[in-house]
Amino acid sequence: MHIDIDTDVCIGAGQCALTAPKVFTQDDDGFSTLTPDHHDHLDDPMIREASRACPVSAITVD
Ligand code: SF4
Repeated sequence: MHIDIDTDVCIGAGQCALTAPKVFTQDDDGFSTLTPDHHDHLDDPMIREASRACPVSAITVD
C-alpha cells in the first residue's frame, strides 16, 4: 500500500490522525505526516477511512 499526503492541500484538520493514529500524525505546524513506524501498520483498515474522512481529500491510498 502506498499513502500519499498532498501537503499543499492539507489544512491541518487532524481528522486523519484521529482516525488512524498509528499511521498519521501531525507535524509541528499541524499538517499531516506519516508516523515513524507507519510501515508496521499498513494493514490498518482505518487508513482508507482516514482518507475518506479528510475534508479536503489530501490523502491518496493505492
Ligand atoms: S485530515 Fe486531511 S486536512 Fe486534516 S490533517 Fe489529515 S490530511 Fe490534512
